[in-house]
Amino acid sequence: MNYPQILKEVQEEINAQQLEGKIATYIPELAKVNPDCFGMHLTCVDGQHFAFGDSKERFSIQSISKVLSMALAMQLEGNNLWKRVDVEPSGTPFNSLIQLENENGIPRNPLINAGAIVVADVLVSHLDHPKEDFLNYVRQLSGHQMIHFDLKVAQSEAETGFRNAALANFLKSYGNLQNDVDTVLDFYFHQCSIAMNCHELVDTFMVFANGGCLLDQSECFFTLSQTKRINAIMQTCGFYDEAGEFTFRVGLPGKSGVGGGIVAVHPQQYAVAVWSPPLNPKGNSAKGMAALELLTTKTGLSIF
Ligand code: GLN
Repeated sequence: MNYPQILKEVQEEINAQQLEGKIATYIPELAKVNPDCFGMHLTCVDGQHFAFGDSKERFSIQSISKVLSMALAMQLEGNNLWKRVDVEPSGTPFNSLIQLENENGIPRNPLINAGAIVVADVLVSHLDHPKEDFLNYVRQLSGHQMIHFDLKVAQSEAETGFRNAALANFLKSYGNLQNDVDTVLDFYFHQCSIAMNCHELVDTFMVFANGGCLLDQSECFFTLSQTKRINAIMQTCGFYDEAGEFTFRVGLPGKSGVGGGIVAVHPQQYAVAVWSPPLNPKGNSAKGMAALELLTTKTGLSIF
């Protein structure tokens, strides 16, 4: 596969299009980012990698972190996790409250905010130093020790995260939150604030393209079954009420964040990350979606 040529074409064709999108401003700190940033990084399972644009500039990974917290909660809690959070696509926006009441405080899946807050509660219960331990876990998966929380982003979200506070209180009222609302939200806002660039994101998600193991096979973090399940949840729930559209247009398991990042994996082939801050109305990067659609169209490969 001629990835250098394909990535060059993706960059040129996306830059030639006028794709509409709006930067997330409900977290004020995110509004400060340059809307013109655009970068992509792709690493194949044979270790070859290719990139363009702002692929080395860090951004707030936001909801992409939910895959990592879910993965750790699956390891710590096993199948008991699924008693507190389901694995069905929601068909509703990431921060929606309406299903929670109808479904008695059991969130539809771990990748919408309600589900991720339950997962955050599980981690707060299990970890001795939750924020520090989670950060170390992400550093271990990624192989990058310099990954940090962006404390300004975490603070900014804490000051304006009224919907998440509502979700957490609602969960608590159903007995589906064991720790204090404030403690769980503090953890959740920090996990979302992790800053990474496209290259670091790809390195972090490579395990999900590689059967749960690091590329050099020196360590396996997840069993094949866990890897399959994590990819299945990304496929069906990673883009909220646009999960069907992403599957239809791109055809890979992936996850988006309101910082404008999207990461996707093609099991046994590659992991890819793209970043462009302006979002479409469903809260997913407009250019990122289009770039990944071009990638799988030009390679002629998807999981389907
Ligand atoms: N921290 C953000 C929130 O809870 C994450 C949302 C997202 O990236 N879709 O609103």
